[in-house]
Amino acid sequence: MKVGVLALQGDFEAHARAVRSAGADPFDVRTQSELAAADALIIPGGESTTIRKLATEYGLLEPLRQRAQDGLPIFGTCAGMIACARTITDGEPPILGVVDVDVRRNAYGRQVQSFEADIDVRGIGEMRAVFIRAPRVERVGDEVDVLARHNDEPVIVRQGQILLAAFHPELTGDDRLHRLFIDLV
Ligand code: GLN
Repeated sequence: MKVGVLALQGDFEAHARAVRSAGADPFDVRTQSELAAADALIIPGGESTTIRKLATEYGLLEPLRQRAQDGLPIFGTCAGMIACARTITDGEPPILGVVDVDVRRNAYGRQVQSFEADIDVRGIGEMRAVFIRAPRVERVGDEVDVLARHNDEPVIVRQGQILLAAFHPELTGDDRLHRLFIDLV
């Protein structure tokens, strides 16, 4: 299976390693034809405002919206979660807007912009999670399944074939969440 990794910005190389380790073929997505070749897509963390800006400049925003609406399996992490959320509660317009959650950017404040925690993931078990200026999920819709929480707040959610994590699963050398995503496809 060919898993595209949106390679506009952020930690796309580490995601590609995790995809390979999970047994699928990763490749970088920067153009419309590369996007068209993807059986599934990872949207890495980084900065959601930059992802919006670069996706617009590269002519990828509308094609991404279209493919997402047509059911392309997507794994969005951190800024990638923000990119998929229906509502960004800071008042910015949605980017892809395909998952029925409200997220608040940088919600854990300046002092704790970055932290690690052990979370219990349904279907996987305990996992170390690295949160870097992470978004907080403030609402989940009826069709959204919560797979893990931290301090009662959802940190992994799934709606159909779209999986979203508030943290950076590519940074810990643990490919189990990438495997779970590939199994959804
Ligand atoms: N704070 C970033 C944003 O608002 C997300 C941080 C990340 O992806 N590590 O997009």
